[in-house]
Parts: sequence; C-alpha cells; structure tokens
Amino acid sequence: METVDRRALLATGVLALAGTAAASRSAEAQSGPKPIFDVPAVTIPIAGERDVFPVRRIYCIGRNYAAHALERGSDPTREPPFFFQKPTDAIQVVAPNSVADHPYPSLTRNYHHEVELVAALKSGGTNIAPEQALDHVYGYAVGLDMTRRDLQNGMAAQKKPWEIGKSFDHAAVLGPIHPAARTGHFTKGAISLAVNGNVRQSSDLDKMIWSVAEQIAKLSEAFELKAGDIIYSGTPENVGPVVRGDVLLARIDGLPDMSIRIV
Ligand code: MN
Repeated sequence: METVDRRALLATGVLALAGTAAASRSAEAQSGPKPIFDVPAVTIPIAGERDVFPVRRIYCIGRNYAAHALERGSDPTREPPFFFQKPTDAIQVVAPNSVADHPYPSLTRNYHHEVELVAALKSGGTNIAPEQALDHVYGYAVGLDMTRRDLQNGMAAQKKPWEIGKSFDHAAVLGPIHPAARTGHFTKGAISLAVNGNVRQSSDLDKMIWSVAEQIAKLSEAFELKAGDIIYSGTPENVGPVVRGDVLLARIDGLPDMSIRIV
C-alpha cells in the first residue's frame, strides 16, 4: 500500500513536472521571438497632459515660403512641394521655460537654424483631400529643422541625397505638442527666430506656399500617413549660421517660446 502510494506520488510528480514544461513551452510559443535589446520609443510631451505623443515618422517640406525658396535658388511660383524625412530618433524635445543644450554637430562649418511650425497627426490615410486634411491633425509645436548647410549644399551640387545635411542626431528640435482642440489650427500668425536677442527670421504662417492641409494632402499621395507622423512645415527666409554659445529663441504666435543654446 505504502509502495503504491509512493509510486502514485512519484507519477503525479512526474506528470506535474511534464505539465510545467508543457505550459512554459506553450507560453514561449505564444509570446514569440523577443527583441534582443531595448530600443527606446520616441515620444513628445503633450502640453497639459500626462500622456505623451508617440512618433512614427518625421516628414519635412522644403522651400515652402516664397522668399526662402528664392534665397535657396528656386522659383517659388512653379515648383511642386517636395519632402524629405528625418529619422524619428533625431528628435530633441525642449521643455518650455528652459534653454536646452543643443550639441553643435560633427562635420559642418555652416550650421543653420530653420524655425518651423510642426503638425502632429493622430490619424492618416492615402489620397487625403485638402478639405479633410486638418481632421487628421492632433496638435502643433514650435520646431527647428536644424541643417548642416555646407553638407546639404555639397551633396545637392553633386546631385546626391541631402541625408547628411538634414538627417543627423538632434536635428529635429521641438517643444511640446499643443492639441488643436485647444489652440485651433494654425493657418496664420507670426513666426520668428532670434539669435542672441537679434531677430533673424520673421514672417507669417500665411506666407506658406503650401498650407499644412495641402502638405498633408500632397504627402498622402506619396506615402500612407499614419497616427504618430509629424510634419515640419517649412521655414521662412533668412536662414543662417549659428556657432557654439549662441542662444536661439523660436516663436510662433499662440504657442510657448522654445529656446536652445548651441554647445
Ligand atoms: Mn526646413
């Protein structure tokens, strides 16, 4: 009797072990392959909210103010909009009421500021009509499309991609996103950039050649836009160089100022 009990106990134990192994194998099968290391998600703070905006892609439009198109050597009356991307992890978030250190990047001797309105999408699609485009905008931020101008120009002269001039670490600077539900959409209003207190760029959002709505429509012909995409909507004229120690102050009417120091 005693023996049988022990045998029964042993058998139960073996079954229990087998059950554990089977359960763990099936858990492994269910969870699937795991990343071998963590890559941090890129997010942008939302003004007045605890939750954050996850970034999927960064699109930028080129030469979207007539006077800037002219200074960059193109005809603002004829050219269709063109776009480029920056890598998502090029984002540098700047907190309001602070001056964030921004590293002067490698390889350049002509590092330029470009102040821009940034639109952040909560949804997307393809072939979006301009009339419906703003329905996809979650909110707006003040941004700087920082540019290694000498490298951009050098590559352009060789008919090579701009990548190295535009798509480097920390090249996508911006403040928190302000929900359009609170601010409304930005179709006009002053936009400016000062360096060490001297205003260098000063214009109005209504001088954009292609409005944010038109940019979304045009982009959606080329790419399927999705929630998490952000769009740098172009810079006004008088882009120019900065050096280490310069303090930049970017302003758009209706949004808090955004400031960085080049270090
Ligand atoms: Mn730009």
